[in-house]
This record gives sequence, structure tokens and C-alpha cells, in this order.
Amino acid sequence: MAQSPEQSEPEAGNVFEWVETRIEDRDDWARRRRKDIPTDKQLMVIACMDERIPVEEALGISLGDAHVFRNAGGKVTDDVIRSAALSVNFFDTTEIIVINHTDCGMMSAPDDAVVTGLDSVAGGSLDNIDLNPALPSLNIGDASIADWIWMTDDIDEACETQVDLLRNHPFIPDDVTVHGYVYEVESDELRRPGERIAEEINTRA
Ligand code: ZN
Repeated sequence: MAQSPEQSEPEAGNVFEWVETRIEDRDDWARRRRKDIPTDKQLMVIACMDERIPVEEALGISLGDAHVFRNAGGKVTDDVIRSAALSVNFFDTTEIIVINHTDCGMMSAPDDAVVTGLDSVAGGSLDNIDLNPALPSLNIGDASIADWIWMTDDIDEACETQVDLLRNHPFIPDDVTVHGYVYEVESDELRRPGERIAEEINTRA
């Protein structure tokens, strides 16, 4: 939005106004965080890192509209909580949308295959891995690397789980709306979790 003041035409005799607007728009854009200006849609998006998800296009948004957090699986991990806590409590974000998707890589292997792969990379010492190298005291505790990696069995259930985790987290105020959708790579459309239309209309009602 603030990126394209060229949308309007300068008016004869008042060209300076066009220039002034352009300067103000640029100032608002450049100093957003210092001027407490929220994202244009007051939105945070949490999506899988998968290269096939056109996040902005799927939500009808563009640059400047949302904070976008992408990770493997579009899962509500500790850093998603950290980022969402800042976005909703300090940057006036009022809505969160989670996007998971079909054919997610998180459904492409069994847990033990991933654990074995990481174990061999780490030289067989998974217990001493820093989950956050800048914060070594943050350790995995009683959980396992498999829990941390968090592979997925069912994308619709996974999506609903992420929404519940955000809605129930103490850092996310109750008046923040949270919704989740499954992006179908095969149809280029979003669906509500649990509404697999293609599956239903290919079998007898
Ligand atoms: Zn994915």
C-alpha cells in the first residue's frame, strides 16, 4: 500500500500535494515499527515453508499486509509462540491464520527415519544438541527429537491442532481471532480443515 503512492495523479497547480503525500507514505512505511503502525491487515500468517504455497495470493493480501512466519509444517513451535506473542501484544495484530497443505513434507517419512537421519548427522549425540544455539539452557527436557520435529499423520487434524494451540495459549489474548486452512496443492485452493470435497464427490453419497 504505502509502497505505491504513484497510484494517484498529481493535480494541476497542486503538484506539491502529490509530492507531500508521497513523502508521508514513505515515512510511514520506513518508520512503521517506530510509529506503531500495524501491518495493513493487522494479520499474522503461520504457514508451511513449502515452496508451493502462494501465501499472499491465497489470502488475497500483498506486501505490507501481514507478518508471515513460515516453518516446516506450519507448526506452532516455540518460536511461533514467541513471534505471535510480539505481533498480537505489541504490534496491533488482531487476527492469525494458519495455513497447512496437502502433500506436506512432514507426512513424507516415519518419525524414526527422521530421527535416525538427524542422529547420524550429529554423530550419535542427539541428547546434547542445542535447540537454540543462542539459548543453550532451552533444552528438550523430557520430550524427544521426534516430538520436536513433529511429523504429521493427517493434515486436517494437524491444522486444527495448530489453531487450538494458539487459541489456548496464555500469550494470545482471547479477542485475537485464529483460523486455520488447508491449502490444496492439487487445486490451488484453501479448504476448511475436515472438508475434503474432492474425496467426497468421488464416492457415492
Ligand atoms: Zn509442508
